[in-house]
Amino acid sequence: MRQNQQLPRISISIVAGFLIVLALMISLAVVGLRYISEANARLKDIVENNNLKTALATDMQSALRERALSMHAMSILTDPFDKEAEMERFYGYGSVYLSARERLEQLPLSRQERETLSRISALMGESNPEVLAVMEMGLAGNDQEIFDRIRNKALPKQRKIADEVSALIRLQHELTDAAIRRADSSYAEVRSLMIALGSSAVLVGLLVTFYVSRRAGLQAKQLTTQALYDSLTGLPNRSLLRDRIEQAIAHARRSNRPFCIAMMDLNRFKEVNDTLGHNVGDELLREVSRRLRKIMRAEDTVARMGGDEFVLVLQGLGKDGIPAFARKLHSALETAFFWGSQRIDISASTGIALFPSHAEDASSLIRYADIAMYMAKRSGRDYALYSPDQEQVNRDRLSLKSQLREAIQSGQLTLHYQPKIDHRTCQVTGVEALARWNHPEKGMLAPDSFIPLAEEAGLIEEVTHWVLKTAIAQLAALHAGGHRLTMGVNLSARNLHEIELPGTVATLLAANGVAPQYLTLEITESAVMFNPADAVSILGKLDRMGVILAIDDFGTGYSSLAHLRQLPVDEIKIDKSFVIDMEQNENDAVIVRSIIDLAHNLGLKAVAEGVDTRDAWDTLTILGCDCSQGYYLCKPLPQESLLSWLDDSAALSMAALQPARGAASS
Ligand code: C2E
Ligand code: CA
Ligand code: CA
Repeated sequence: MRQNQQLPRISISIVAGFLIVLALMISLAVVGLRYISEANARLKDIVENNNLKTALATDMQSALRERALSMHAMSILTDPFDKEAEMERFYGYGSVYLSARERLEQLPLSRQERETLSRISALMGESNPEVLAVMEMGLAGNDQEIFDRIRNKALPKQRKIADEVSALIRLQHELTDAAIRRADSSYAEVRSLMIALGSSAVLVGLLVTFYVSRRAGLQAKQLTTQALYDSLTGLPNRSLLRDRIEQAIAHARRSNRPFCIAMMDLNRFKEVNDTLGHNVGDELLREVSRRLRKIMRAEDTVARMGGDEFVLVLQGLGKDGIPAFARKLHSALETAFFWGSQRIDISASTGIALFPSHAEDASSLIRYADIAMYMAKRSGRDYALYSPDQEQVNRDRLSLKSQLREAIQSGQLTLHYQPKIDHRTCQVTGVEALARWNHPEKGMLAPDSFIPLAEEAGLIEEVTHWVLKTAIAQLAALHAGGHRLTMGVNLSARNLHEIELPGTVATLLAANGVAPQYLTLEITESAVMFNPADAVSILGKLDRMGVILAIDDFGTGYSSLAHLRQLPVDEIKIDKSFVIDMEQNENDAVIVRSIIDLAHNLGLKAVAEGVDTRDAWDTLTILGCDCSQGYYLCKPLPQESLLSWLDDSAALSMAALQPARGAASS
């Protein structure tokens, strides 16, 4: 689409450039030709004029010459008839001379010509009376003295005039020559001007062409970059990746060597994006791509698939090389990323598919790597190698995702409730609502298999709303049945961006007539780890309403003490992984002890989960833990079972929790 719009624009500018040059050349030619024809006409005028003047001057000259001959004849002729005839000829030439001179004087003359002419007239005026007088005398007699006067005095005067006339003719020739030379030089001027302008026009044309073709080239390159590279990280995108995989396949076939596709997805990236904002998310992605590029060899490819997913094409890497590669990848991401003073730990889950053992085409390789990646994520491992049985699991996951919306609407979701027991009184103080999906074919599904899907599918707001509504209604029913318990409801990180959440909670509490201090909202540590502004404001509102806030899964995230102090929380829930391992693992025991101390130092309640043995319960009692939940105490129960358990067996089982004699002192 975009490409099609660019192309006409390029050809329009090329044509426009060409037209400009063409117009320039044509107008140049017109101007030049016009100048030449004007110069030509001027020259023609000058030459014609000068020719006419030369002709008249020549007439004057030959008249003078003839008169001189007449005078000479007069000085030697003796016969009176001959003399008479000669005298007539003499006068005749005089009038030829005069009429030529008059015509000459009427023509446009230069200063020099005028001066020459007036010099001639002066000479003529001065010598003519004497010439005429001696000629008349010559006509009358044959006196030797008169003849001498003609020859020695009148003739030289006459010759002097003739010389001036010759000078006039020469002058005419010179003027004509000068005019021609002038015309020649102006032709030459025009010629060089034409050459200069013409070549500049060509130069302009060349420049335009060069510029346009360079632009076109750049734009084409830009388009290719846009089409094939990811704009955020500069890595190859999905389309180019496909190409690279095809190349890798061809290469692997030729060289008979394996290669593999690794698909990598950052863990908790969504939380970084949701809580610290997209800028930080983008910078993190750029940093990850820099680190990936650094560990790749030249023939390998790192591409970004979109979101926080990267794909690596690893040439020549077979099954045996994978553990070493995984270690390299792990250590590349190990160093924490810093945003200002905010430390962000990066980890990733990677799925690997092998050519040719898993698949021999690009699409299947990508799909298998994706499935393996999901498996790695699910099992909490750094990486997983594809195996065919993973495919069924993946198919199930995708179909679950598509069924989820329907499940919410058609009431397939249900809540189980797990009691929380107070260590001092051994009484049930509250329950935690835990979502279940009663799937028509698969039976009861645990939240770990659908809550992440709801988050991915943008359905988590709807799920949370349903859970809140159901749990608060159940809470009201418990109170009505005489059980003044608290109700714990789990929130997702995404829920802390819903500005309507406090309003929704208030409305539900009011509608069911339940006081807010009976509702505990559990937020995972990672959801609030970066102190996002809107999460803090939503938590503040809920706190002011009187709702109890608990940090869930404490110990697994990054909460700092200082950070924790800023949040309006009332409870800390120690992550079950520490509690479960506490008896075997000294480290975990230390963590549990210090979390309890930390909670108490901050004036918060410490709640343990995952208490599945009597020993754990007793240890937690000794450590001063306030409250616990766990399979040992009671498994999560469906609504009806909860009510009968509370009514019938709770008191009895709780009595059994009283410390054995002497246990408290050990
Ligand atoms: P959680 O909030 O940490 O919930 C406690 C989980 O530990 C529950 O798993 C519970 O059945 C399990 N558990 C309790 N006692 C023991 C024990 O002694 N040993 C062991 N191994 N496990 C024990 P469940 O119900 O599968 O829930 C898993 C997670 O799903 C919850 O962890 C919570 O994060 C999430 N979840 C559950 N319901 C909801 C919900 O309505 N909304 C949201 N956003 N998340 C939910
Ligand atoms: Ca919880
Ligand atoms: Ca938990």
